[in-house]
Amino acid sequence: MKLFRLSLKATLFLLFVFLTLSCQDDSSNSLITDNNAESPIDSAAAAKIHLTMGNPSGAVKDILFDTNYLLEKPEYVLSYNRFKGTANWVAWHLNVSWRGNAPRQNDFRNDTSLPLGWYQVMSTSYSGSGYDRGHICPSADRTSSIEVNSATFFMTNMIPQAPNNNQGPWADMENYLRSLISIGKEMYIYAGGYGSNGTIDSGRVNIPSRTWKIVVVLDEGDNDLNRVSNITRVIAVDMPNDNSLISLADDWKTFRVTTDYVETKTGYDFLSNVPVSIQSAIENIIDNQ
Ligand code: MN
Ligand code: MN
Repeated sequence: MKLFRLSLKATLFLLFVFLTLSCQDDSSNSLITDNNAESPIDSAAAAKIHLTMGNPSGAVKDILFDTNYLLEKPEYVLSYNRFKGTANWVAWHLNVSWRGNAPRQNDFRNDTSLPLGWYQVMSTSYSGSGYDRGHICPSADRTSSIEVNSATFFMTNMIPQAPNNNQGPWADMENYLRSLISIGKEMYIYAGGYGSNGTIDSGRVNIPSRTWKIVVVLDEGDNDLNRVSNITRVIAVDMPNDNSLISLADDWKTFRVTTDYVETKTGYDFLSNVPVSIQSAIENIIDNQ
């Protein structure tokens, strides 16, 4: 009885500490908001659009979540895994407003916005590995300004990607999705890798064995979440990240799977902000358009 009461006290104490820390975090953020229009909290507000359809792994902006850390940028949002040295997933909205004439910046660099003390994967970390520094959110999806394009070159937006995957069907699919903008579409995209083909950078960066992507396609418009219905087009793919299992000339469409399949493989729940009955209807279909 005594023991139980002690452990209950300990639990309540930890809960108190947790809530206190959470409150401090919130109040410091609102102070920054009041004083500085260019503050990180405004970045976070701008980033919210990318997670309109949901946060697939329940990522949290808290250093305790070091395998599922929410990193928000105006250009995209990601869940970071400190021990994999990569994102678990990156989410971004794609429509005509993100496209312009900014040239590709090629300024690959470490991401200094990671929590203090975490290893930052370097621009040179993939050198000599045989893997490309593969963008998850593509450079060409972010050409509205030099700054916006440059943001895609943070190493937190890269995975070690087999050249035949990155430069073949993966790139072809990226081009196809951008082509949908010109026929009046907007998209919510999630992408990442899972599994392991070993590591690079002295074990600091995991090489995913597969790469996947989930795309919600809507007609350009407002109230996007509310417009997702039982007939909304969702494109899901799952590709091998191994040159011996994929060719440059492979048709990206042959890698289409159901969203449910990718949910099973990754353990994530995509489109979790969409009503469950609609998720059920659109997540068990293989796109055939
Ligand atoms: Mn690429
Ligand atoms: Mn789902």
